[in-house]
Amino acid sequence: MADLRHKHHLLLPEIGGQGQKKLAAAKVLVIGAGGLGCPILAYLAGAGIGTLTICDGDRVELSNLQRQTLYTEDDIGKPKAEAAALRLRAMNSDIAVRGCSEMFSFRNADELVESHDLIIEGIDRIAGRHLINRACLAGNKPLLSAAASRFEGQVALFRPGSEDDPCYACLVPETAEEDGLCDRDGVMGPVVGVVGSLAAGEAVKLLCGIDPPLTRAMLIADLKQGTVRRVTLQKDPACPVCG
Ligand SMILES: [Zn+2]
Repeated sequence: MADLRHKHHLLLPEIGGQGQKKLAAAKVLVIGAGGLGCPILAYLAGAGIGTLTICDGDRVELSNLQRQTLYTEDDIGKPKAEAAALRLRAMNSDIAVRGCSEMFSFRNADELVESHDLIIEGIDRIAGRHLINRACLAGNKPLLSAAASRFEGQVALFRPGSEDDPCYACLVPETAEEDGLCDRDGVMGPVVGVVGSLAAGEAVKLLCGIDPPLTRAMLIADLKQGTVRRVTLQKDPACPVCG
């Protein structure tokens, strides 16, 4: 059954049986089950990530259904982490899915990060991103960061422990103002689908060891222009968080 389920990944020499075993052994924490989290979670559940934890303290709202594809009208008012977990279990009963209906905060950060191999965030607050960045640095865990608003979005991979790699705070100072909030500025629905899918793809590549990794680089998708660009990122030697 597992071979049939994963037939299309097994056919890829870059994944194959070995890669599929790595995916089944992986423990991935996804923070944010919103527009970005939905495609990330759906593709990771489909890929057979053995342990998938969803951390989100919000409830499903009508205005989410424009782009948050895991939810239906029946889910309105329900905690997103629980509704998403139910949906993912229905998609793949071979994997363990845990819903954590709490905000990622100082209280649960260390425990959540420590018990996973890869952290992926698709939240929409800079302060929250900095908290996740610090927790991943402290726990020495790779962080895939995805963000989107209006017609654009970005995906970057931060790997603590690699000397030349930047952290999130190297790019965005902890004192920075909020920029590009979906609730304030709007977002075209398919933007989060594209950007979340780019993040899910980089997660599968990272877990299977498929080159080239998204090292010291950011993918920028612009759906107005119809482009995806890869730009190089630099570590800030004076970064107060990782420097
Ligand atoms: Zn830094």
